[in-house]
Amino acid sequence: MPDLINDFIGLDTEYKLASGSTKRRIHLDGAASPLVMKTAIDARDALLPHYSNSHSFSHASAHVCSQAHTWAKQTILDTCGADEQYSLVSLGNGTTGVMNNIARRLTKRASEKPIVLVSAMEHHANDLPHREQTALVNAEVIHIPLVGESAQQGEIDLVALEALLKEHPGRVNYVSFSGVSNVTGIVNPVAEIVALAHQYDALAVLDAAQSAAHMSLNIAEYDVDFVAFSGHKVYCAGSPGILIAKSELLAHYPSDEVGGGVVERVDYDSVDYLNSYPQREQAGTKDILGIYSLAKVMAALQGYGLDKVQAHGVELWQYAAEQLASIQGLVVYGQTEQTRLGALSFNIEDVDHGLVAAVLSDYFGIAVRNECFCAHPYVSSMVKEALWDLDLDSVPEEQQAAMINRKRGMVRASFSLYNTRDDVDALCSALREIVANKESFEKEYDISELGE
Ligand code: PMP
Repeated sequence: MPDLINDFIGLDTEYKLASGSTKRRIHLDGAASPLVMKTAIDARDALLPHYSNSHSFSHASAHVCSQAHTWAKQTILDTCGADEQYSLVSLGNGTTGVMNNIARRLTKRASEKPIVLVSAMEHHANDLPHREQTALVNAEVIHIPLVGESAQQGEIDLVALEALLKEHPGRVNYVSFSGVSNVTGIVNPVAEIVALAHQYDALAVLDAAQSAAHMSLNIAEYDVDFVAFSGHKVYCAGSPGILIAKSELLAHYPSDEVGGGVVERVDYDSVDYLNSYPQREQAGTKDILGIYSLAKVMAALQGYGLDKVQAHGVELWQYAAEQLASIQGLVVYGQTEQTRLGALSFNIEDVDHGLVAAVLSDYFGIAVRNECFCAHPYVSSMVKEALWDLDLDSVPEEQQAAMINRKRGMVRASFSLYNTRDDVDALCSALREIVANKESFEKEYDISELGE
């Protein structure tokens, strides 16, 4: 058990179960938002007595906040392995906000490079912004296929990626992909994908929402061009969206987010923007408390050892997969040899994913997530065999869409630094009870009302 475990808030929170007893909750939903580290709250509390707007340069507390902000940005860059080529820009709205921002910037390259390659395993946050932006300029997103015809492995097909890059020589704007899948926990070969993109003169965009808390991002070593992640996925209460990018690219493709703080001078009919980076990127007031907390957490993780953090994630994922395999009718999605951590998605034959998630919470105090995890195409591609089994004719037409949706989902348990083998054992024993008492749970719950 990692010794940082005592640093998490809410591990002892108890809930009343359907049986009437109370039980310490087990949080297996860290892929959505993990528990918050005390370090994050302590950092916020330490800065609060000085709280002010860092844009007001003239007073002492503004100086303290401004210094804290500068320190925090540099610390996050350092802990992510970004060297002096890179700058950090924080935006609101987590990874989603950052991806929209990146897509808007890079669309400026679309006339020369009208193709964007997005992996087929992406969260909607790393797919829809690219679709929306390319659609505005008659450019196009092509999804990089998954390995194999049935997609059961869940891996990105690197051969297909190279074929796409070759097929559109010099015309691919960027390749966008996640470091770790939020569905299968597959750890993608970041360095290899970036190298392929660069070999064919495309940029590489990394969605690190699921990797930043679990491993070293090695941004400079892997030579990634743009990286996005969120504070709330890295054990923080708030959620600054973090963009780390090569400063040269930020200067070339400036943000369209403008306002106070990024100008030299404004008249009614003219604007003189700052041309120094990243100052040109600091429009508006930043979430200084959030960024400061995040920096303190990332420094704590680094101090603990990012290798140890990753090893804990990989070991727990493997242990869970082995234990779950002994449950009758349970299928873990993604039949791959690749390293995995964090998210583990499964279904139990003939047991509705919504029922499993609801019973785990109500009867066993175990928090998981179910349905499609904002990755509809990826989830569908892996459960499509189940979809083929659907007897749609047996239900009225107006209920068919709901039936497809229900079948398309999965249950996702996701493991964070505070989770232990005991949590996995508790999950397995709860699932065994659900399988054994399936009929009675089915009678108790109205499946059509169990949502994500
Ligand atoms: N990408 C991935 C891989 C994710 O898992 C998530 C969150 N589930 C996001 C992007 C979106 O992150 P946020 O909610 O912070 O915008």
